[in-house]
Amino acid sequence: MITIVGGGTAGWLSALIARQFLPGARIVVVESKEIGILGAGEGTTPHFVGRFLDFCQIPMSELVKHCGATFKNGIRFVNWRGDGSSYFHPFINDVSGSPKMPHFHPERWTPPEEVDFTTLASLRGKCLMRPRPAGAEVGRNPLARVDHLGAFAVHFDAKRLAAYLKRVALSRNVEHIEDTVTAVLPDPSGGIDSLVLADNGRIGGRLFVDCTGFSRVMLGKHFGVRWIDVAESLPVDRALPFFLPLDGPRPPFTDAIAMEAGWVWKIPVEGRYGCGYVYDSDFIGDDDARAEVRRMFGAEVDMPRVLSFRAGYHEKIWVKNCFGVGLATGFLEPLEATSIWASLLSLIELFQVHLAQEDDRAHDAMNDFHRRLHERIVDFLYLHYMGGRSDTEFWRTLRERTKAPEMSAEILDGGLRWPFEEDPRNAGHPSPFPAVSWLWIAAGVGLLDRKAMARYWSYFALYDGFEERMKEHGDRLSGIADGCIDHERMLEQLRTF
Ligand SMILES: Cc1cc2nc3c(=O)[nH]c(=O)nc-3n(C[C@H](O)[C@H](O)[C@H](O)COP(=O)(O)OP(=O)(O)OC[C@H]3O[C@@H](n4cnc5c(N)ncnc54)[C@H](O)[C@@H]3O)c2cc1C
Repeated sequence: MITIVGGGTAGWLSALIARQFLPGARIVVVESKEIGILGAGEGTTPHFVGRFLDFCQIPMSELVKHCGATFKNGIRFVNWRGDGSSYFHPFINDVSGSPKMPHFHPERWTPPEEVDFTTLASLRGKCLMRPRPAGAEVGRNPLARVDHLGAFAVHFDAKRLAAYLKRVALSRNVEHIEDTVTAVLPDPSGGIDSLVLADNGRIGGRLFVDCTGFSRVMLGKHFGVRWIDVAESLPVDRALPFFLPLDGPRPPFTDAIAMEAGWVWKIPVEGRYGCGYVYDSDFIGDDDARAEVRRMFGAEVDMPRVLSFRAGYHEKIWVKNCFGVGLATGFLEPLEATSIWASLLSLIELFQVHLAQEDDRAHDAMNDFHRRLHERIVDFLYLHYMGGRSDTEFWRTLRERTKAPEMSAEILDGGLRWPFEEDPRNAGHPSPFPAVSWLWIAAGVGLLDRKAMARYWSYFALYDGFEERMKEHGDRLSGIADGCIDHERMLEQLRTF
């Protein structure tokens, strides 16, 4: 039996993925109604589509109908350099003939909204999908009647997602107990023997999955796994969630808007934008943060909840017969939606490795994977803050009071260490974001090393006649983007499918 504790996003993702790996196993989810779920976390990465929806055979149309889902082609970063400018971090597209990094040319900065297909299409409110010619459609599903031109992720209403995933899991023979774990009882080998529930006695299991969110019942409280604190690099530690009304067609991307002491996420779902101000409490109090939100987004914005966290993660996610998933393993901050993504990545690896091997070497390999993954994520997130904003104390002192992780430090030093896996200095680090993502951010915050790019470009024929080629290229992509399906239209088709 697999005993999962927690009925938030992590708990239900774990149950459904476990079911795919083990069709006949007994799987039980224990969930405390008193504690409830976090209900934040509404943005994802393309892994959510490939590694979860497809893997668990959950159609996108169901997510649109039951969870208010929209498409996400990337993130638009607004005002991270303090000059009102914005840049886009797109997910990868595969429009043929598209040079991978066209606008990073060392001699001419071409705005991505002219030459990057994903950016072009997204800012026009388009999905990265082109209707097939009449007669070439396959079936009724709107997503099978289009050609897919790039990766996409989803936004959703987190509370509706948990409720929907629960219904799907129950329909796939996952059992559910509403109760609170009050104690964890060890077995003689140091693993978990059983859990004591407030109302239902004890529950055992061969494998226990800790999805208890910030309560961190098993990995943290029971096993006391060492905590790796990374607040010295990622200092934001509070979030004020709020909703905004829709003000037109919903964009197929997340907005990340820099603020006086942090940033705001703005995520379109059905009927609203889900937003939240993430800030450093050393530089702004909760009331001042509320006031800043109201100045910027409207006097009537309601912000009843303040969430506190400290960036960090447990050193291990697999101890004896216990896996940790989701917030129970740690949390960095919401930027780039890495939390659900890391949960999915580890879950699949954990089940794959666990089913093949269950000894110290397997544990060490997985825990090492988890640690290195987080080291790289911390590094990548740090770079986003390095746009040189200096209008408030938070931004002005950020660089001197924080610790730059390895790769960011090198970029800040004027170099650009390619995050390619082939670079021996990156050996053993799983690459959460591809090299091009680092370039998008480095370029967006004004830290791209032109010399490094010149070396890169010297390999490409495009270097000659660059201007004309870029113009042709931009015109072609613009034409393709215009022919893509409108985001709202695709959502409507999926909703009524
Ligand atoms: C401000 C904020 C914004 C975020 N934004 C994003 C984002 O955009 N993208 C992203 O990928 N991630 C985001 N995250 C992270 C994301 O919210 C989580 O990864 C995701 O929601 C999973 O949460 P969870 O299931 O681990 O925890 P929770 O939702 O907190 O669920 C914990 C569960 O454990 C149960 N529980 C706890 N203790 C016990 C007990 N003793 N007995 C029984 N049950 C118990 C609770 O009742 C609950 O059911 C964000 C996080 C925060 C804080």
